Amino acid sequence: YEAKFGNYGTRTFSSVLNQALIDRRELEQEMASALEHGGYELHYQPQCDQNGRVAAFEALLRFTHPTLGVVPPSRLVPIAEESQMIISLGTWVLREACRHNRQWQLEGYPPVRVAVNISSMQFAREDFADSVAKVLEETGLAPEFLELELTESVVVKDFTESTRQLQRLKRLGVSIAIDDFGTGYSSLNYLHRLPIDRLKIDRSFIQVLSAPNSTLPILEAIIAMAKNMELGVVGEGVETDEQRAMLCLKGCDLLQGFLYSRPVSADRAKFLLQAGPLYESMLREDALAVA
Ligand code: C2E
Ligand code: MG
Ligand code: MG
Ligand code: MG
Repeated sequence: YEAKFGNYGTRTFSSVLNQALIDRRELEQEMASALEHGGYELHYQPQCDQNGRVAAFEALLRFTHPTLGVVPPSRLVPIAEESQMIISLGTWVLREACRHNRQWQLEGYPPVRVAVNISSMQFAREDFADSVAKVLEETGLAPEFLELELTESVVVKDFTESTRQLQRLKRLGVSIAIDDFGTGYSSLNYLHRLPIDRLKIDRSFIQVLSAPNSTLPILEAIIAMAKNMELGVVGEGVETDEQRAMLCLKGCDLLQGFLYSRPVSADRAKFLLQAGPLYESMLREDALAVA
């Protein structure tokens, strides 16, 4: 990078990025052209059950700019939303995730769900459910193996319209998860009337479990509430064995985070599907290394 960014001395690549020295419009153009030329990739992060078995993968968008290198989704998505590109990009993500999942099934790997993040602009469109139906048909993936992740703020914005949209999606047979749960402002009264299947507890509640101002009471309340509403619960951002143990003890169904695996390429995801219990096998590998 020093050769390319020689003017900026020894600054790291990410600080160059953060200072937005590269014109945003240039990035936007690069993103649009990448959509035509296959410049995007999906990585997959496992969601494991309490025994460490992969139950699902979350699809996460990856983009490598020719000179900037990896651009994180937190930067890509707002740009794509402002330029309306999020609709075509979102459809690409949906199709690619369904295609991969179907391919793994055809190759004989144990079937799992794939979870796809949906932007508010996609969800707001009248024809969104139709586009999901079309992707399922094109790829041949059965709807039970697709989950859509929506944030709280997206579904509570217009309760009547959201309910209608969620009902259309539920009729297709896909499942719905509420992402980053606990960070929005949704009233529980709203939530329990929506046709949803799962809550994903935001990682901010999980990462301070052992801190002096522990979020444990909040975590317990969320899990208890999910159980009462007969919803599944996923813990996000599980990084330590202590966090894993606490979530399991409190009854969290699924766990996702670096402790199990970072997001990986589609090929590597396939490997994880046949690797056996992820966390237990990690322990075994450690034991072997010591022995
Ligand atoms: P998210 O949906 O909440 O996804 C989880 C994020 O947490 C991912 O970041 C993942 O890499 C990260 N993560 C997973 N485990 C851990 C952990 O143990 N510790 C820590 N510190 N982080 C962990 P990523 O891939 O950078 O994505 C960020 C956000 O960008 C996502 O948050 C999602 O809101 C959005 N996003 C990603 N892909 C897409 C997409 O295809 N479409 C849309 N609309 N949004 C996307
Ligand atoms: Mg998500
Ligand atoms: Mg999340
Ligand atoms: Mg999050």
